[in-house]
Amino acid sequence: MFDIILFYIISIFSLLFNVPKNEPAAPNVVVITLDGLRWQEVFNGADSIILNDKTYDGDIEYIKANFWATDSKERRKKLTPFLWNTIANEGVLVGNRNYEANMNVSNKYQFSYPGYSEIFTGFADDSVNSNDKILNKNINVLEYINSIPNFKNKVAAFSTWDVFPYILNEKRSGVYVNADVDTLSFKESTLTMLNEMQFLTAKPINVRPDLLTYFTAKEYLKAYHPKLLYVSFDETDDFAHSGMYDQYLKSLHAEDAMISNLWSTLQSMPQYKNNTTLIITCDHGRGGTGKSTWKNHGQEVKESSQIWLAAMGNGIAQKGEIKQPVQLYQNQIASTVAKLMGTSFNEKNAKHPVGEPLNSILK
Ligand SMILES: [Zn+2]
Repeated sequence: MFDIILFYIISIFSLLFNVPKNEPAAPNVVVITLDGLRWQEVFNGADSIILNDKTYDGDIEYIKANFWATDSKERRKKLTPFLWNTIANEGVLVGNRNYEANMNVSNKYQFSYPGYSEIFTGFADDSVNSNDKILNKNINVLEYINSIPNFKNKVAAFSTWDVFPYILNEKRSGVYVNADVDTLSFKESTLTMLNEMQFLTAKPINVRPDLLTYFTAKEYLKAYHPKLLYVSFDETDDFAHSGMYDQYLKSLHAEDAMISNLWSTLQSMPQYKNNTTLIITCDHGRGGTGKSTWKNHGQEVKESSQIWLAAMGNGIAQKGEIKQPVQLYQNQIASTVAKLMGTSFNEKNAKHPVGEPLNSILK
């Protein structure tokens, strides 16, 4: 009898004060993008056609010494060891067109703003057709998640590129977006130091280095425990446009190590351990085979719509590299993020069409 009374007292108390029962904490999601990184490097490693191009004058010796192997499986492991030693074993990688495991953008423009908009709004809006600092009129999944009371102020984005406050419409969405050298107004000494560093560093691509974007995101995560975190790297695209294949590969290799470092950090924190999903993708592809086609992308450059995605952790099927024909789209990522967090991002709450979740990579 006493048990029953106690049960009712606890139930009423829970209802009144919204005390969570013994439910597991809601899952966390971390999304990472590498701007304009080709699937060719992800799945085949360094490209021999580019490395053997006599007109290319980059640091080929370093690249060959560090990232070259005749077997493409060895080569990709040297270039992106976290993707191939960890994610390939514990998660999933899709986008290897040698197996027709295809993933594409569905927007027709095949450059950054339309790509990021498609990733986060789940929608290829034809009117989103510029990289200019224009506030995105479409609702994105970060904004939707941030509007849910349990996740309020638990969504944050850190980017190297300074257009993200517009792509994610920080003003309307209320999502914390820290881009380029936006002042880091935090009390933690690590974030204070990073704030100084971002103003003092050289800027090879004219915005803060990806390393600083990474550390600002990491230190913010440690201090403020976001449920949904977005980290946006930019160097790969800029170095590719400049024709600096060596720097493109070096940035990719460093970012793979940062992702590994982030994963270890997440697994060392009780809130995130075994309760976090990592999704890694890109905004667009770039030109395919050929000596200089890799430098550019866009409507006029064949193969620019070809992208890839890697994921692991909570909710992700342990399928490794997908080697069966499949056709996935960039507009499916937003609803996948929402689904992983136990909710749904759809035409109703987004107020525009949203691609279906990527159910084939989910548990
Ligand atoms: Zn570009």
